[in-house]
Amino acid sequence: MTYDLTVIGTGPGGYVCAIRAAQLGLKVAVVEKDRTFGGTCLNVGCIPSKALLHASHLFDEAGHEFAGMGIKVPAPKLDLPAMMKFKDEGVAGNVNGVAFLLKKNKIDAHIGRGKIVAPGKIEVTGADGKTQTVETKNIVIATGSDVARLKGIEIDEKRIVSSTGALTLEAVPKKLLVVGAGVIGLELGSVWRRLGSEVVVVEFLDRILPGMDAEVGKQFQRILGKQGMTFKLSSKVTAIDSSGKTLKASVEPAAGGAPEMIEADVALIAIGRIPYTEGLGLDYVGVKMEKGRVLIDADFKTNIEGIYAIGDVVAGPMLAHKAEDEGVAVAEILAGQAGHVSYDAIPNVIYTFPEVASVGKTEEELKQAGIPYNTGKFPFTANGRAKVNRTTDGFVKILADAKTDRVLGVHIIGADAGTMITEATIAMEFGGAAEDIARTCHPHPTLSEAVKEAAMAVAKRAIHM
Ligand SMILES: Cc1cc2nc3c(=O)[nH]c(=O)nc-3n(C[C@H](O)[C@H](O)[C@H](O)COP(=O)(O)OP(=O)(O)OC[C@H]3O[C@@H](n4cnc5c(N)ncnc54)[C@H](O)[C@@H]3O)c2cc1C
Repeated sequence: MTYDLTVIGTGPGGYVCAIRAAQLGLKVAVVEKDRTFGGTCLNVGCIPSKALLHASHLFDEAGHEFAGMGIKVPAPKLDLPAMMKFKDEGVAGNVNGVAFLLKKNKIDAHIGRGKIVAPGKIEVTGADGKTQTVETKNIVIATGSDVARLKGIEIDEKRIVSSTGALTLEAVPKKLLVVGAGVIGLELGSVWRRLGSEVVVVEFLDRILPGMDAEVGKQFQRILGKQGMTFKLSSKVTAIDSSGKTLKASVEPAAGGAPEMIEADVALIAIGRIPYTEGLGLDYVGVKMEKGRVLIDADFKTNIEGIYAIGDVVAGPMLAHKAEDEGVAVAEILAGQAGHVSYDAIPNVIYTFPEVASVGKTEEELKQAGIPYNTGKFPFTANGRAKVNRTTDGFVKILADAKTDRVLGVHIIGADAGTMITEATIAMEFGGAAEDIARTCHPHPTLSEAVKEAAMAVAKRAIHM
């Protein structure tokens, strides 16, 4: 039989694409090399990291915040194997959910590594080495990404770990060296700090969270510093000696110079991720790449007829919801509809405490593009709910076009920032103005009132400041 569509990879891009295409009446198959569906996100990314962030946050609260609220508990004790079981059960619930949805939508799953041998032909090699050929009118490549490695430093996933190993450590490291102050390094660094590690973060650039609004990065670094994380910016790890009982990392100034040595029990290499296309046969069929990513046009089409690509393997932010939206859009295009993704309104969240969330342009980007803008800022210290909850760290910042008042970017540090960013994203999707947010009734008392106040602050009329 010939499928209308075969998706290679079942991460959030691939499985969502397959389901949407099946909903639209296409005969669909997926190819997956791993034992479980769900890709990086469900197995070794978003889901397990959020399970550990949730559990470690409650552990931290129980140890430090409960007494202040009149809750007397004995000092909490960590049962790490039980916490890991909690995480694994959460992962299992999610990956089993994907298996159920694929079945429900009558999507055939071919388990094995897929290689495109010709347009419309995928060779699938199972774990037993047996191959089968899947025939299909269209192919969507959704093979995701893999950990970026540092030259000369071997990841053993025990002492020198990637995010995958950092999600399964068997003991709390006394000292954790995090290489890279991006989202993954700061989230997993937070998990282990809360569980008792001394955490040192080494970052090549002179700031944390490159790409995020600079003011947000600065304040967030101060907050993480107060929580006990140490930062070494403008520095690079050039080697890690793992021959002794503790690791010895050579850390040099980014611009070069004499190295210093930092000892640690575990080193987490979190310098980013790279698109994954190994063994996919792209050279063989002549699919064009650009900067290591599969090159696509506005309709997700590669240079080869009938071959499309989405998610981490193509350009854009490596985020699960971006991959999902591309999956929906390409399925709709293949079914003859007008699939579309608004790349200017893709939110980005860091699930630490407080959370950091943003959508749209940063101040630096607006300045560089020469776009005049007004800023409205509101601190959580002036928000009633944050005050009573004692979660007053952070602020909401809204950047609006100086001429039209249209919202161009929103940046939030604060408890639950990841949920609050959604209202800003919807406002931006609808082409909304700061005035639209300011005139929208927000429930009291909620943290989201800070978003409304920041919108009012754009016109210099915040009430509670
Ligand atoms: C620790 C961590 C935390 C993260 N947290 C978040 C978060 O909170 N929010 C967020 O939005 N993003 C987060 N991400 C990023 C997110 O996981 C990715 O952006 C997302 O998974 C990309 O989806 P995808 O469908 O493109 O690819 P993936 O999820 O990587 O899935 C690709 C799939 O393709 C399969 N595959 C690859 N090659 C083949 C082949 N030849 N044949 C068959 N199958 C193949 C793989 O086995 C895999 O299942 C996190 C990532 C990490 C590592």
